[in-house]
Amino acid sequence: MDVRAQIVMVFNLDKCIGCHTCSISCKNIWTDRKGAEYMWWNNVETKPGVGYPRHWENQERFKGGWVVDGKSLKLKAMGKGPTLLNMFFQPNLPKIEEYYEPFDFDYGNLAGAKAGDDQPTARAFSQISGKPIEEIQGGPNWDDDLSGSQIYAAQDPNLQEKQVIDSYASMFMQYLPRICNHCLNPACAASCPSRAIYKRGEDGIVLVDQEVCKGWRFCTSACPYKKVYFNWDSGKAEKCIFCYPRVEGGQCNACAHSCVGRIRYVGVLLYDADGVEGAALKGDAELVQAHRNLILDPRDPAVRAAAKKNGISERWLDAAEKSPVYTLVKEFGLALPLHPEFRTVPMAYYIPSLSPVLSTWGDTHKLLEHGMIPALETLRVPVGYLASILSGGNREVIEEALKKLIALRVFMRSANLKKESDSAALAEAGLDAAAAKRLYRLFTLASYDERNVIPPQQREEQDPERRKQQGGFGILKKTGRGR
Ligand code: SF4
Ligand code: SF4
Repeated sequence: MDVRAQIVMVFNLDKCIGCHTCSISCKNIWTDRKGAEYMWWNNVETKPGVGYPRHWENQERFKGGWVVDGKSLKLKAMGKGPTLLNMFFQPNLPKIEEYYEPFDFDYGNLAGAKAGDDQPTARAFSQISGKPIEEIQGGPNWDDDLSGSQIYAAQDPNLQEKQVIDSYASMFMQYLPRICNHCLNPACAASCPSRAIYKRGEDGIVLVDQEVCKGWRFCTSACPYKKVYFNWDSGKAEKCIFCYPRVEGGQCNACAHSCVGRIRYVGVLLYDADGVEGAALKGDAELVQAHRNLILDPRDPAVRAAAKKNGISERWLDAAEKSPVYTLVKEFGLALPLHPEFRTVPMAYYIPSLSPVLSTWGDTHKLLEHGMIPALETLRVPVGYLASILSGGNREVIEEALKKLIALRVFMRSANLKKESDSAALAEAGLDAAAAKRLYRLFTLASYDERNVIPPQQREEQDPERRKQQGGFGILKKTGRGR
């Protein structure tokens, strides 16, 4: 057992209101500069939709992530031959139009235009070329609120039941906030010929060393989430840094701190690095369980002893015990990995959504009033759709999580209405009253310190020499890209 600590974010999709405050705070701090105008390290997409960059989920187009090749994994886009051939030409890179051409408006003209017969206007111009843009063709969430849903939502690869967007009555939408997943098996790091991308030993944050990056852009191609960006001004790759300067001081990320819906939870998970490759090799339907099996119980004395041996401090172990992320991902199995079938073992997790309205038809609301769980097929967001995004197509995993969420609503509704609480729905979903109250608190009333349990870094407790000898961890041991 090779115990490592990972700092992880969980998103509760039911609570995201699509306000983009998270994206703006991130942009203001990290990407408000030349060459980074089109980058949104944190972005929020409308689903169903094609996302940002457009069609990022389509790996037939972008060839990101890993595929199983016999008993091992290989990068989807690269064997040895193509790596050399692609050194100067990357056919799978998204084009700028697939992100969007970044633009601003000529506000100075509003006050500075010469006197004339016409009202002065602020025309759009490209932030790359400086030339005027006659018609803006894209933005960071061009699908916003299902605008143009017949064009964009219909192209969502997760939407198997296309008819749901044909009728207003059955239409649904939700938001999907995304950051870099700081994966345990990062395709970006594995693909970099310069070894500029590495996963930090102390907290698992994946970073690009700007001094070492040569701008080959293999990472941009290899990341199936398209979360490494190329800065056209500096000629280097850039990505979400999980706000490490904040996290090192015990503060949560700017996106999580500013989140209006309080949908985000940040905390520590302990995992077994020896199991990462095996977990990524599982069949699609088994991937979620394989992820959960990697996560270790921070209260287990054997785990704590092995963690201490690996240099994980007492403060980090205590934080792992109090981690809201552990509660949501492992203990209750409510938070699920984004597209686990890309096999990077992503470390951002999502609680699937029931909202905006629990059902589109039938008597769901009546059932709820009577404390009964409605049939999952009547839920507004199709189970198959969520399964395609969050469980490698495994419907049972989604159903299990949704049942718990519905049972929680049924139970707390009756408790809040001072009706006799019926625990039958809870028991059916594998919960009890104490668990329901804990989860309800976490979802509704939890304070900043309950939602974000981040121990400050204590570098003096780390042993860099020992980490160097280990030569990285998990699957990165082979490539020497964990530090
Ligand atoms: S999402 Fe994973 S593969 Fe993509 S940049 Fe982040 S760590 Fe790398
Ligand atoms: S700030 Fe929070 S609620 Fe608003 S879009 Fe971002 S994740 Fe959603």
